[in-house]
Amino acid sequence: MSPTESFDVAVVGGGVVGASFALALRSANVSVALVEPQRPCPPPDDSSWDPRVYTISPGNAEWLGGLDVWDQLPMDRQCGVETMLVYGDQNSSRIEFDAYDAGLRDLAQVVENRQLQHALWNALERSAHVSLRTGSRCADVRWERECTQLELEDGTRVSARLVVAADGADSWVRSRAGIKQYVHDYGQVGVVANFATQRSHNGTAFQWFRPDGVLALLPLPGDRVSMVWSVREARARELLATAPQRLCDEVGHASSGMLGRLELLTDCVGFPLRLQRVERLVEPRAALVGDAAHNVHPLAGQGVNLGLRDARELACVIDRRGAQQDCGDYALLRRYERARKEDIMALEFTTHGLEKLFSAKRVSLSRLRNMGLALVDAQPLLKKALIQRAVV
Ligand SMILES: Cc1cc2nc3c(=O)[nH]c(=O)nc-3n(C[C@H](O)[C@H](O)[C@H](O)COP(=O)(O)OP(=O)(O)OC[C@H]3O[C@@H](n4cnc5c(N)ncnc54)[C@H](O)[C@@H]3O)c2cc1C
Repeated sequence: MSPTESFDVAVVGGGVVGASFALALRSANVSVALVEPQRPCPPPDDSSWDPRVYTISPGNAEWLGGLDVWDQLPMDRQCGVETMLVYGDQNSSRIEFDAYDAGLRDLAQVVENRQLQHALWNALERSAHVSLRTGSRCADVRWERECTQLELEDGTRVSARLVVAADGADSWVRSRAGIKQYVHDYGQVGVVANFATQRSHNGTAFQWFRPDGVLALLPLPGDRVSMVWSVREARARELLATAPQRLCDEVGHASSGMLGRLELLTDCVGFPLRLQRVERLVEPRAALVGDAAHNVHPLAGQGVNLGLRDARELACVIDRRGAQQDCGDYALLRRYERARKEDIMALEFTTHGLEKLFSAKRVSLSRLRNMGLALVDAQPLLKKALIQRAVV
């Protein structure tokens, strides 16, 4: 039996949210163990593009900059979103968000998942306050009054005052902490792939609310875009099995030929979509962050941004806890829960509401939603307020 190693915080899951949270604890004077079954990300292959990309908000990009992560991302692998064009399902209705009008340089930065993961793990390997426990997943947990005991599949034992669940939508920690969840399966799949385009996107992110689902094309460096097409499962199976040229034609047609001829650059991959709410974010000695804490429809491209804001807030609460306070103390963790509630509920409500509104087939609703888009588009102050909310 291996001896138990003691830490202040054990972070379970080293995806984008868990890895950045572990890094953010560097000024909190705590020791951290990061448990991640997958080996650290190898250097990305620059000759290919990752079909999974994130639109990172300016607020989160700045925070990642403070963790010495953002500057490690190659400039030629990120693309600023200067404009966002959203079309309703009647061709005439659309809404335009412009960074310049809102006094910003960009509305977001689009980066590939593997580039971001690589930069995060490079920073973790340089961090003195984090001990990496990779290659094995958690197998058992014992919740005790003063600390929590984790046992990994390889027999490693870790004890911590606080266990942070950053282990994704099917969180093992969440289920072992007995935190219930409400799941609404959209019966949809997010189909993702990257394309080279004939015409320049000019830093524009496009989105179409179509009768068969929501199609988004996000700008990548050069004349390239990344697609997320959220469609019903049967349609997703068709798209995933479609030959490359036919897929390009279908995406070109669905996007009204906006970017000219398309050429497929990557595999086409599908992710099942669901809304997932948890009954609470904390328990004594446990806190949930990222997809372990919430799962939203990708139509707002905000899932990872919400998770990064969890990480920011929890790190801040722990940093400010005072010299004597135990970082797994329930009253302290409740502060984190209260601070995050509104942001999470607002995004769940908006994404779920929009999905319901645009998937409804009734003609009266179709008129209403398209009128709504046109009305919002004519209100510069309202648009500015919506942008301010999305860029934190
Ligand atoms: C189609 C699609 C498109 C999306 N596009 C966007 C977008 O444009 N912008 C955006 O902001 N978000 C987007 N999202 C959402 C985004 O991908 C997620 O919100 C984000 O990946 C969540 O990060 P995470 O670190 O919380 O979880 P994950 O990325 O799921 O990481 C969880 C980690 O935990 C580890 N783990 C699992 N089980 C255990 C265990 N038992 N022990 C230890 N470790 C474990 C896993 O190996 C993994 O590394 C999209 C999602 C989908 C489905």
